[in-house]
Amino acid sequence: MKDRLVILGARGSVPVSGKDCCRYGGHTTCFLAELAGQPIVLDAGTGLLRLPDDILARKELPLLLTHPHTDHLLGLPMSAYLKQPDARLTVYGADRGGKGVRAQLNCLMQPPLWPVRIDGFPARVSFRRLPAEGKIGPVTVRSIEGVHPGGVSLIRLESGKKSVVVITDCTLTDAFRPRALAFAKDADLLLIDGQYSEEEWAGKTFYGHNTWNAAAEFGRDCHAKQVRIVHHDPTHTDKVLDAASASLAAVRPNCRFAREGEVIRL
Ligand SMILES: [Zn+2]
Ligand SMILES: [Zn+2]
Repeated sequence: MKDRLVILGARGSVPVSGKDCCRYGGHTTCFLAELAGQPIVLDAGTGLLRLPDDILARKELPLLLTHPHTDHLLGLPMSAYLKQPDARLTVYGADRGGKGVRAQLNCLMQPPLWPVRIDGFPARVSFRRLPAEGKIGPVTVRSIEGVHPGGVSLIRLESGKKSVVVITDCTLTDAFRPRALAFAKDADLLLIDGQYSEEEWAGKTFYGHNTWNAAAEFGRDCHAKQVRIVHHDPTHTDKVLDAASASLAAVRPNCRFAREGEVIRL
């Protein structure tokens, strides 16, 4: 099987819908990596509802969470995978706000906010702390802590042949950028948060995101072979992102705004 990554949701903050966001999509952050035959889901935004049938049919599935902000979890309450009694989901995430990953998910998924807890579905769900370095099947998983309100994990997956790096919800501050560059170095694919335009950036510097220009420059400087900008702002229509696409390509060829449903060969 070819190594690939599928963009299941590329929107940030909240999901959107409508004819003006069809091309880049409205579902929030969720990606499916398949490396050396091992599927790994990254984040569980509403894009999780687009999980392909062959992945739904897998008896075991790992889910890695960058952090527990709701735009990265909102697919779980209606996940078709969790409705299968013979399925087993292993959720990896860092401790956040003094809570382990199970307790974090149950902040969102318990009455009165939601009738079913994360461990109340037919599927078996287990929880692990996201390691600084570990293995999922043939894939090496690395993580470091990023710069975001409440914290965030940057994640790197490597199969020996191919590598994918996910840097969402992390501001590339001058102090942190060198560490992030080393972490993302030479990735076959970099997914990186570029939520804002330069004009929007003033006043949003502490929100924990980046401009798309800063994200593209980071992709150039870490020598990623392919770069996709993710976590599109809910107010950014297809027209806005199309208009900004040329500026990305000028910084780094092979750098584009991620489109929901896009399958990226590695
Ligand atoms: Zn987010
Ligand atoms: Zn966040």
